[in-house]
Amino acid sequence: MRIGNGYDSHRFEEGRPLILGGVRIPDHAGLRGHSDGDAVAHAVIDAILGAAAAGNVGSHFPPSDDAWKDADSIVLLERARAVLHERGYEVVNVDVTVVCESPRIGPHVAAMCSRLADAMGVPVDRVSVKGKTNEGMGWIGRGEGVAVHAVALIRTAMG
Ligand code: MG
Repeated sequence: MRIGNGYDSHRFEEGRPLILGGVRIPDHAGLRGHSDGDAVAHAVIDAILGAAAAGNVGSHFPPSDDAWKDADSIVLLERARAVLHERGYEVVNVDVTVVCESPRIGPHVAAMCSRLADAMGVPVDRVSVKGKTNEGMGWIGRGEGVAVHAVALIRTAMG
């Protein structure tokens, strides 16, 4: 068993679709980013790659590479899972905390867990996503963007 930690933050930007955990959330500014800006997917990628000491989202999918421009970050997560498998590991479980003043995360948790679990090839009950506000404090409190924390447990792949 090995544990990994992931963190990501993105700034809100009007005129872009908001995608978190592979789920399109309507009626809200999106997130600035070279890819689709999906900070949830990016934090999860960093957590599972970190658990394997296998780099991070930036080293595998560098913003300098146009292949990842506006990329679907769920596809990046599927690729990160493949990196893990090449090294003989599989995901046990992932726990994610999304910190933002808006949108409300709760109504989208089930859909996010489903998309993340599918991308990692694990049952949905191995994935947890929780939303919190920052109680109005700091840049998150001012609604400038979203921060995401993730931890992942991985293990040597069975068979
Ligand atoms: Mg990111």
